[in-house]
Amino acid sequence: ELPMIFAITPTYSRYVQKAELTSRLCHTFLHVPRFHWIVVEDAEEKTSLVTRFLQKCGVAYTHLNVPTDPRFKTPEAVRARLKPPRGVRQRNAGLHYLSEKFTVEKSPDGVVYFADDDNTYDLRLFDEMRSIKGVGVWPVALVGGLLVEKPLVGLDGRIKGWNSVWKPERPFPVDMAGFAVNLQLLLKHPELRFRDDVEVGYLESYILETLEIPYWDIEVKANNATEVYVWHTRAEEPKLKMEQKLMKPSNSGME
Ligand code: UDP
Ligand code: MN
Repeated sequence: ELPMIFAITPTYSRYVQKAELTSRLCHTFLHVPRFHWIVVEDAEEKTSLVTRFLQKCGVAYTHLNVPTDPRFKTPEAVRARLKPPRGVRQRNAGLHYLSEKFTVEKSPDGVVYFADDDNTYDLRLFDEMRSIKGVGVWPVALVGGLLVEKPLVGLDGRIKGWNSVWKPERPFPVDMAGFAVNLQLLLKHPELRFRDDVEVGYLESYILETLEIPYWDIEVKANNATEVYVWHTRAEEPKLKMEQKLMKPSNSGME
């Protein structure tokens, strides 16, 4: 039987949310067999929009919610432009869910992937990650100020470094979209969570370092990191100036 893929997606309310969840994620994931989608809303309560969306999407899912740490929303924090690391508590809620549901002794063969709600995924990415036994990595396009950020691979097929230019001193200068972890390996570290007190760009490094996978055991995917199967796209905020000219919003009665 094919190993499972568990994808953890943090998501927050904004005008493009439903469009992104529909086209970039739902319609892609519908093509992926043995896939379980863990959607974690950044919200005090689950919204009816995401609830209805998941009911209709057709992908097997678990719907969770947890708000981002309110200490980042105090007036002082806002004035100091203190930005919370995005999606940390939400990804952690996904990790918690998996560690409650499964144990090392009793879990399906599978991998865990952190699938942000605005990236663009090629279906081949999921074929690649399914076979990962520890930690697997691959190129991510349009991130870190580069067209593509990727592991550099020696003739022996092992990683010899990264091509990253932004904070290249990071132990693992790789984006969230650029790796997946075997479920068993994660379950051996049931308490492992992302930290919201690390420097910007170090979320991934902290997790990957803690998993203590020997560097030479990291699995390089996407044809020795020569193919792009995921793009770190970001949607532009829509301009809605004309709404103010209306007596009632153009969407009244519509979601
Ligand atoms: N996110 C969230 N709450 C926020 C901001 C972001 O849950 O306040 C989610 C977002 O939906 C995405 C992930 O966290 O799945 C990463 O955020 P984003 O794509 O904005 O970050 P970037 O790509 O700019 O690093
Ligand atoms: Mn993003």
